[in-house]
Amino acid sequence: MPLEIVTVPCLTDNYAYLAHDPATDATAIIDAPEAAPILQALTTRGWKATHILLTHHHDDHIAGVPALVAATGAKVVGAAADAHRLPPLDVELREGDTVKIGVSAGSVIEVPGHTLGHIAFYFPDSAAVFTADSLMALGCGRVFEGTRPQMWESLTKLAALPPETLVYSGHEYTASNARFALTIEPENAALQARAAAVAAAREEGRATVPARLEEELATNPFLRAASTPIRARLGLRDATDAEVFGEIRGRKDRF
Ligand code: ZN
Ligand code: FE
Repeated sequence: MPLEIVTVPCLTDNYAYLAHDPATDATAIIDAPEAAPILQALTTRGWKATHILLTHHHDDHIAGVPALVAATGAKVVGAAADAHRLPPLDVELREGDTVKIGVSAGSVIEVPGHTLGHIAFYFPDSAAVFTADSLMALGCGRVFEGTRPQMWESLTKLAALPPETLVYSGHEYTASNARFALTIEPENAALQARAAAVAAAREEGRATVPARLEEELATNPFLRAASTPIRARLGLRDATDAEVFGEIRGRKDRF
């Protein structure tokens, strides 16, 4: 049985998620920007948090952990590589490790770039991947700690998941990502349509995440380094995909 997944808006533009296993009532919180809206979302559904899965150490993803642990006793789960700067972990994870929410098994994908210890959680039976600030809707996280080639490699791993996978990212940045994406590939009709849909959704205050991976592959410039029109526009016809990605990431940083 797939996980029941709830999007919880937090802070100004962050998202936390609840992932509930109906078979066992186990419930994971994915990222904890702040406790109050997450506790409210749990209470509303009568769910009890059993785990807190952390994608990376940035404050806007972990600040709510102490209050959530105090309120729920949930086990804190995060990357072994960043155990020294995450809240105290009950479980430390590495690439390929399995995470269980009740009977639902997920795998850990290391996606360094935004931070060196960033991980994603992939639940194949639910066609869901929690990517936070690695792959985002129409974008990707800023490369703070790793290198651009390293971020490209991380995105390549996520891009190889089944195309029907839903990508649950960590922020509502999609409208501004769409404006940038159109500067990289203005002739992309799927991107034009998506940008219009995103603008309409935001006008109505609707979340633009999750997004289907196949839609990202068709419209997200950070996954489209192989695109001939993009390469032509950037004057990088003979560059490697990683170099094209690096140029796009640099342009976004200055956008
Ligand atoms: Zn971050
Ligand atoms: Fe963030």
